[in-house]
Amino acid sequence: MTTRTSYRAESPETIDAVRTGILTWFERHRRTLPWRETRDPYHILVSEVMLQQTQVDRVIPYYHRFLERFPTVQELASAPVAEVIRLWAGLGYNRRAVNLQRAAQAVVESHDGAFPHDLGQLRALPGVGEYTAGAIACFAFEQDVAFADTNMRRVLDRVFAGETGASWASLSGVAERLVPAGDGWRWNQALMEFGALHCTSRKPLCGLCPLQAECAAFPVAQQPGTRKPVKQEEAFVGSNRFYRGRILAVLRDHPDTAGVTLHELGAQVRDDFSPEQLPWLVDLVRGLESDGLARVAEPRASYDAGPPETRIALP
Ligand code: SF4
Repeated sequence: MTTRTSYRAESPETIDAVRTGILTWFERHRRTLPWRETRDPYHILVSEVMLQQTQVDRVIPYYHRFLERFPTVQELASAPVAEVIRLWAGLGYNRRAVNLQRAAQAVVESHDGAFPHDLGQLRALPGVGEYTAGAIACFAFEQDVAFADTNMRRVLDRVFAGETGASWASLSGVAERLVPAGDGWRWNQALMEFGALHCTSRKPLCGLCPLQAECAAFPVAQQPGTRKPVKQEEAFVGSNRFYRGRILAVLRDHPDTAGVTLHELGAQVRDDFSPEQLPWLVDLVRGLESDGLARVAEPRASYDAGPPETRIALP
């Protein structure tokens, strides 16, 4: 695959044609999503954190439930961590829930409950990286900023670099030039949607694409489905991440704030649990503890040795 020269790829005419093609496509194909109906930065933050590593369809009911229970950043900030973790059950990557609450607490404590508009200050919030900061600045405050999730970056890489796996550092210049003055919200939504629905990773719809003339990667061959997801599922079952999820599920379902003993926890997490596996279990609990997802209820002093009577609970 040849890569077009940067002059041609980034000429004003190309920039204009790519922008027009994607915006026109967006008007025809955009989905109605609840976080597109709001400019509340707290709601945007909740949606963006949930959408990290989780599909849109799965996120929608969680998004509504979460905001129903914690309608404001203040209510999330002051909620018991255990309740936030329980509400997150089923979404996966539970550390996101803890970081989301920490970000809410930082907004309340350091910014009087009002989200900062400045990108640097947004990036300083716990768990908020470059992408999420850009998304809040753009989708809540309608700033004309360039940022990219995996889908957006893939589109830019294909169109302007010919699918070379170009870094964000080399794509950010053209990404900034693409943002139309005063219309950054619509542009970034459009680019995101185009990457999610049309120029997808495995099955890009090149034959129907409005960017055929501009795209340096055209045509990208569709990749047939493989058994990879099944293999991934097999690899996941029995992994430490799998058991972390099971431990958390036991703690979530345990109403007693005194928690459960390591022995009870081990027996509920795996059928073949034996005392020899206590160090393994303690390691997993330690990981959850350092991620803010579990706490040692008592007795703390004997925890390091992993005695079976040590009690573990949600934070
Ligand atoms: S031509 Fe294919 S690779 Fe290029 S932007 Fe369109 S769908 Fe993506």
